[in-house]
Amino acid sequence: MDSLTCRIAVLLQDRTDRPLRIAVVGAGILGLTTAWALARRGHAVTVLEGGLIPNPGSSSADEGRIIRHAYGTMEGYAAMMPAAFTAWRTLFAETGEDRLVPARAIYALREETPWQGAVARSQARHGLPFTEVDPASIPVLNPDGVIRAMEVGGSGMLLAAPILMDLVRLLPRLGVELRGHTHVASCPEGGPVLADGTRVAADVTLVAAGAGVLRLLPDAARRFGLRASLQTVAYLEPPPGLWEEAPMLLCRLPGHATGGVYVLPPRAGTRLKIGDYDTSITVDPAAPRDPPRTGRVAALMEAGARAIAGFGAYRLIAARHCLYTMAPEDRFVLRQVAPGVTLASACSGHGFKLAPLMALGLAAAVEGHVTGEELAFWAGGHAPSA
Ligand SMILES: Cc1cc2nc3c(=O)[nH]c(=O)nc-3n(C[C@H](O)[C@H](O)[C@H](O)COP(=O)(O)OP(=O)(O)OC[C@H]3O[C@@H](n4cnc5c(N)ncnc54)[C@H](O)[C@@H]3O)c2cc1C
Repeated sequence: MDSLTCRIAVLLQDRTDRPLRIAVVGAGILGLTTAWALARRGHAVTVLEGGLIPNPGSSSADEGRIIRHAYGTMEGYAAMMPAAFTAWRTLFAETGEDRLVPARAIYALREETPWQGAVARSQARHGLPFTEVDPASIPVLNPDGVIRAMEVGGSGMLLAAPILMDLVRLLPRLGVELRGHTHVASCPEGGPVLADGTRVAADVTLVAAGAGVLRLLPDAARRFGLRASLQTVAYLEPPPGLWEEAPMLLCRLPGHATGGVYVLPPRAGTRLKIGDYDTSITVDPAAPRDPPRTGRVAALMEAGARAIAGFGAYRLIAARHCLYTMAPEDRFVLRQVAPGVTLASACSGHGFKLAPLMALGLAAAVEGHVTGEELAFWAGGHAPSA
């Protein structure tokens, strides 16, 4: 663990003797865990959310999310993962519900990449396996074109929807005020201004508005290179008996329009889900996303057939489009944008797994245990592993 993560982990204990009034904009996973990290320290937290809490249109709203230690060539994030798991365990101890379902993760590789060496290093550092497996030993995997199948240890699925609900139940018990249907119009120093012109007085404002940041803080979003990309997911009904023990699959498809698919197996009430890796379509986050663009869904299903064996027997139950908030190099952006105002953008396809740890980092910065520069550097996954 790098030294900054160690300092942040100290915030898992004790309460502050200098409570502040804090406004959190957005009740996705980053906003809710940030409220948790601050309220458990004794701060007075108000969460302002434009829609329902949780909001079914947010990036966080889904059945399952992947968590794993392997982070490809982003070794700074890989180094943070033990602390990220600890942060989840701390949260689960406080909600009383363990929502992490261990699941094997198999990368089906169709070309050689620098990824392997980096993952081998980080897995070894964590004492976790990184093992080549016979593609034929995974009945759900379509082995066509697979040059190597690698299993990474230390992975699982976070049950996203129940986690959000657990937080909605826990936060009021910690004194957090959750205000749904409360659209924030601007975020000046002194507290957010709502759509009706009233102000919520706050010493500190943390903007965890997901793709909504593009409208709320357009200058900062431009400065940090943020954009919203359209992602497609499909929920499938598999033939019976195939997926009870089956792993998560991560299948890049070089040259395919989707970039490949990731596959989450059905577990603990979730449905089998596939999603794409194509982040090339930039959209206005406020534009309607339904009905699903049929071409995108067709491409995803075609990619599913390349990844999953016997795909013709699978039934499409539903498809939907959702948003990633993309930042350069897929890095988190936690940056002060005005006195007392910090933008917190959980980037792209990995924002869920790191949210509680990032939330503790934000709490550390609010209390002055780390500087704004340190926070930005650390959140960007740049801190060297110890
Ligand atoms: C299809 C898909 C698959 C993913 N898979 C994974 C995965 O496997 N593992 C992983 O770790 N991550 C994954 N992610 C990424 C992760 O889910 C996101 O990074 C994370 O959920 C973003 O959380 P957030 O709280 O920043 O934003 P959001 O969840 O979008 O929440 C932002 C909230 O702010 C509110 N808001 C916006 N503007 C305003 C305003 N002006 N006033 C008031 N409220 C406002 C919105 O209504 C919204 O509820 C995936 C994302 C998607 C879309």
